[in-house]
Amino acid sequence: MSVETNLEMPFSETPEGFVQPFYLTGERDGNKTPLVRGRFARLTSPCQSILGRHDYPASINELCAEAMSLAACLSTTLKFDGVFTLQARGDGVVRTLFADVTSAGAMRSYAAFDTEKAKEFEPTGPAILPRLMGGGYMAFTVDQDAAHGDEARRYQGIVELEGSHLGDCAVSWFKNSEQLAAQVITAATKTDDGWHSAALFLQQVAGEGGHDTRLSEDELADEWHTAMVMMSSATREELLSPSLGVPDLLFRLFHAQNVHLQAPRPITDTCRCSAEKVEQVLSGLDAEQLRDMSDENGQLHVSCEFCKINRSYSMADYLSA
Ligand SMILES: [Zn+2]
Repeated sequence: MSVETNLEMPFSETPEGFVQPFYLTGERDGNKTPLVRGRFARLTSPCQSILGRHDYPASINELCAEAMSLAACLSTTLKFDGVFTLQARGDGVVRTLFADVTSAGAMRSYAAFDTEKAKEFEPTGPAILPRLMGGGYMAFTVDQDAAHGDEARRYQGIVELEGSHLGDCAVSWFKNSEQLAAQVITAATKTDDGWHSAALFLQQVAGEGGHDTRLSEDELADEWHTAMVMMSSATREELLSPSLGVPDLLFRLFHAQNVHLQAPRPITDTCRCSAEKVEQVLSGLDAEQLRDMSDENGQLHVSCEFCKINRSYSMADYLSA
């Protein structure tokens, strides 16, 4: 069976940042229901442009690049319209690691860290979480837009910073929240063009609850085990190399388990800041706060943490408002 015959939408042009959803129906012919669900994210231009603006030390770039691919994978495992956020807080060199992505694929990321100490670390491929972040927690948040008469809602899962890599926290979260086995590997590297990253995520599909499968629990466990073995055989080069197409990579890894590709989802470097939002915040400040913020010429300068756009305003316009 070729991968292409399973494509629900042609993978015509590979965007520079995307998540490829897929599922495995297993080694036994005839089964049509998904036994393992997967996501593969490869981010080239979003990582390059976002991290290019930040100008972080290499060890922090590696961590952020991996966080972006992980957030991209996880966001598409959930059905929602809104924003998915991955945020970790630690007591180590890195105090905050942040990546968020909307259901339309607009990605942002930043980190807060001790600049001098961060320069002492080299990228480790993949980033070692305890070394950079120490102890703390990671939160996965979905801010669902208000729609269809429903109010906006927030769902949040929090896990301790544990394990060696970013993906280990995500696996704990899935285990806690959905009682389902999951596994993820992340990778990031720097080329002449800048940083890029990838993440491969697998999740066991619930054996009960309406899935029409004729497989026993043992057979399902077998399929999961095989998928995990194949996943662990993927090399960093395979995950990251733009010359290895995604259908080829997934077919190479999972062809024996009948891999089915679904429509890829683009991920872009798109900030959600606007002049309007900044002006709204400034309007809410009192005179003392405005004076604290202004420079000696009475100008207010507001820089976006994510896209680094600087916006300037005259304090007088807001004092009189
Ligand atoms: Zn911005």
